[in-house]
Amino acid sequence: MANIIDGKLLASKIMKKLKEEVNSLKQEEIWPKLAVIMVGNDKASEVYVRNKSKACNEVGIEFEEFILKEDITMQQLLAIIEKLNNRKDIHGILLQSPIPANLDINEAFRTISPQKDVDGFNPVNVGKLVLNQDTFVSCTPYGIMKMFEEYNIDLTGKNVVILGRSNIVGKPLMHCCLNKNATVTVCHSKTQNLAQKAKEADILISAIGKAQFVTADMVKENAVVIDVGINRLENGKITGDVDFENVKEKASYITPVPGGVGPMTIAMLMNNVIKATKRQNGMID
Ligand code: NAP
Repeated sequence: MANIIDGKLLASKIMKKLKEEVNSLKQEEIWPKLAVIMVGNDKASEVYVRNKSKACNEVGIEFEEFILKEDITMQQLLAIIEKLNNRKDIHGILLQSPIPANLDINEAFRTISPQKDVDGFNPVNVGKLVLNQDTFVSCTPYGIMKMFEEYNIDLTGKNVVILGRSNIVGKPLMHCCLNKNATVTVCHSKTQNLAQKAKEADILISAIGKAQFVTADMVKENAVVIDVGINRLENGKITGDVDFENVKEKASYITPVPGGVGPMTIAMLMNNVIKATKRQNGMID
């Protein structure tokens, strides 16, 4: 039976350490601050923003929220981002997705200053990740890499198979794993023989968004299985992409949902805000 990777516990350890860092920054009169922009009133986004606000509160990071009307124009959105780019008291800027389809999210991400881009979505930071240079790594892939580190899971030479190729999870994760010397395969909706490819994985990471997608027959004996998916069932419960009960009998390590990747994502966001704060104050390169 698999060892359970306890993302909740690891995240709380990280948050505790970050709180100490924030306290020392405050002794130097530096007050880390995150600005979050949300456009419209997407229910899931409201929950995510609330959780980010709570996390900021927990570690002592100041939080300012900008809830914009759905009919805002692109020019207005960009003007708000520019204003935040220029504010010295704001160290991190996060644009909560999704935003209305008539707005260009890529242009918005491009406009967030790379120095304040704590989600790692600005093309400058994405490019640095591709080149294996120090950058703001997007929070979910970063959280997964921290889990590997904590549980001494070495990626060198391993076959990593990632299910999903989104800009926020699959693609940055592919580069993170490659940078750690894994051999990486990325699968998506057009992949042929996906189950067979998954079965070759020493480390299988699912970021698809479909409950029970990864079944035990798709998993190699003793594989490490990371479940990024968040799926709401009809009974209101949250579940991942992996058939946890059956896959845990086969895997060597597995993340639960909830309590796995989710809490790590938030902890890494806090980590990135503190890193941005230190950088903007000349404390780190
Ligand atoms: P996304 O943008 O919708 O991307 C989903 C990916 O899965 C796409 O690449 C898509 O392929 C692929 N896919 C969908 N159905 C497939 C199928 N039947 N077979 C093979 N590939 C398939 O989603 P995302 O934003 O990456 O999020 C993925 C999941 O992770 C969601 O459940 C989300 O809620 C969750 N999530 C969790 C966290 C966390 O902190 N735990 C953070 C972010 C996201 P195509 O590219 O070909 O369309």
